[in-house]
Amino acid sequence: MTRPVVLVTGGSRGIGAALARRLVDDGWHVVIGYRARSDAADALVASLDGNATALAGDVASETDVLRMFAALDGKFGRLDALVNNAGIVAPAMRVADMPAERIERIFATNVLGSFYCAREAVRRMSTAHGGRGGSIVNVSSAAARLGAPNEYIDYAASKGAIDTMTIGLSKEVAAEDIRVNAVRPGLIETEIHASGGAPDRIERLAGTVPMQRGGTADEVAALIAWLLSAQASYVTGAIVDVSGGR
Ligand code: NDP
Repeated sequence: MTRPVVLVTGGSRGIGAALARRLVDDGWHVVIGYRARSDAADALVASLDGNATALAGDVASETDVLRMFAALDGKFGRLDALVNNAGIVAPAMRVADMPAERIERIFATNVLGSFYCAREAVRRMSTAHGGRGGSIVNVSSAAARLGAPNEYIDYAASKGAIDTMTIGLSKEVAAEDIRVNAVRPGLIETEIHASGGAPDRIERLAGTVPMQRGGTADEVAALIAWLLSAQASYVTGAIVDVSGGR
C-alpha cells in the first residue's frame, strides 16, 4: 500500500461519504467504517476505483472497534490518520423526558466510540509506540457551544466531551508526532436530521444562520481534508467551526 491509510468512521453516508471522496482525490486510501447499511458503504467503495475499503462495526462496542483495527492491521499494516466522524442524534426532547437508554446510546456512540478509536489509532501511530506519527480529526458540533435546549442537550454534551478530548489528547501526543484537531459543523444537509425525526430541520432553521443557509457535506469535508494534510503541519488542538457563522 503506497497510499497513506485513513480510517473514517461513519464514512458511508453524509459528511463521512463526502470526506471519503475528497480524501481519495487527495491521494489517500480510505477505510470506510459503517454500522449497518452495507448497501451505502459498498456502493461508495465501488465508486472509488480501488482506493477505498468498507469495514463494518459499531464504534460503541469496544469489541467491534478492536476487531476493526485488527482487520485494518491485517489488510494494510499501517495507519496514518483517523477521523472520528460516526455520530448519532435522537428525536427532540427535553432533558426532563429523556430515558436512560437514549442518553446512554448517544454517549456510547459519540463519546465512547471516539475514545476507543482514538486509543487504537494512538497505539498504532504514536512514535512512542513504534509508529510513524499521524493525525486525528474529531467531528464535534456547533451544538457543543449552543447547548441545543429543547432539542438534544445529551447530543450537545456528548460533543462538548469531544472538544475536551481533542484539547487533552492533542497535548498528550503532540511530542509523539500526532496532531489532534476537531471540526464543529453547524446545520449540514445530511440524513442525520431525518434520523432524529426532523427531516425539515435545515429548512426550518436556515434563517437563524448568519449566512442564511445550511452547509453541505463537501464544505465540511474540505476543512477536515485540510486539517489532515501537510498544509496543517503546525495545527494541533484546534477546534474549527464550519457553521456559516452560527
Ligand atoms: P449521517 O447520519 O448522514 O451518517 C452517519 C454515519 O455514521 C453513517 O455512515 C452510519 O453508518 C455511521 N454510524 C452511525 N452510528 C454508528 C455506530 N454506532 N458505529 C459505526 N458507524 C456508525 O450523519 P452526518 O454525516 O450528518 O454526521 C456525521 C458526523 O457529523 C456526526 O458525528 C454528527 O454528529 C456530526 N455533525 C453533523 C451535523 C449535521 O448537521 N449533519 C452537524 C454537526 C455535527 P450506517 O449507514 O451503517 O448507519
